[in-house]
Amino acid sequence: MPVHLAGDYLDWLLAQGEQGLGVHVVTLNAEMTMLAKEEPRLAELIRCAELVVPDGSGVVWALNKSNRTEIQVSRCPGIELVTNLLPGAGQRRWRVYLIGAAPGLVQALAPEWEKKYPGLQIVGTQDGYFTAGQESEIQANIARTKPHLILLGLGVPKQEFTIQRWRDAAPQALWIGVGGSFDVWTGAKERAPQWFRDNNLEWAYRLYKEPWRWRRMLALPRFAWHVLRSGVSS
Ligand code: UDP
Repeated sequence: MPVHLAGDYLDWLLAQGEQGLGVHVVTLNAEMTMLAKEEPRLAELIRCAELVVPDGSGVVWALNKSNRTEIQVSRCPGIELVTNLLPGAGQRRWRVYLIGAAPGLVQALAPEWEKKYPGLQIVGTQDGYFTAGQESEIQANIARTKPHLILLGLGVPKQEFTIQRWRDAAPQALWIGVGGSFDVWTGAKERAPQWFRDNNLEWAYRLYKEPWRWRRMLALPRFAWHVLRSGVSS
């Protein structure tokens, strides 16, 4: 029987956030999985995250292939998880901190979101191009504003390692790495049309729009090959 896990993630995250029980959410895709195979620190970080959601269709395919139970895992793209979390965060008057993307983007998003999600309080914004020297000031600001939710869009694995370094500044918060989602939320970039998403071809659309990604995207066939070779069977 298919299980729709996305709703479960939301309820759980809202409950954790309400109680101040910190969570690091990793949104896992094939590219990140292959990177983790070469980078033990990243692999360890993923293992230690309180929640790992299957962001990419490759990961969903691999999980369902290896699944010995009746549970059908469905895709949970990080961008959708966060978009669906925001109304509940607003109802609970959560303090939210936005970090990442080119200068000006999250600053522009803050008033938009406060209007769109009544109750939401954006307590801090920071573009993603800060220097090492600025880090302690940003952490101090995070500690001072006590956010319930912190979104970092710095790309993989930079955002994951940054969360690891900064987490003590707000141990009570939900920390979520959102990759390039700020570019989509602000309209700076377009997400793949629904048809591509429904047919597990979001990667192809991305490759068409951003051909310079081809080298990084070689991770996808390598991932598939690795899954098949490791003898995972249905
Ligand atoms: N970015 C950033 N700081 C950096 C490098 C990247 O804020 O030092 C941002 C970049 O502007 C973009 C996002 O991180 O908004 C990365 O997007 P991408 O789609 O490459 O993310 P991924 O594929 O890793 O999820």
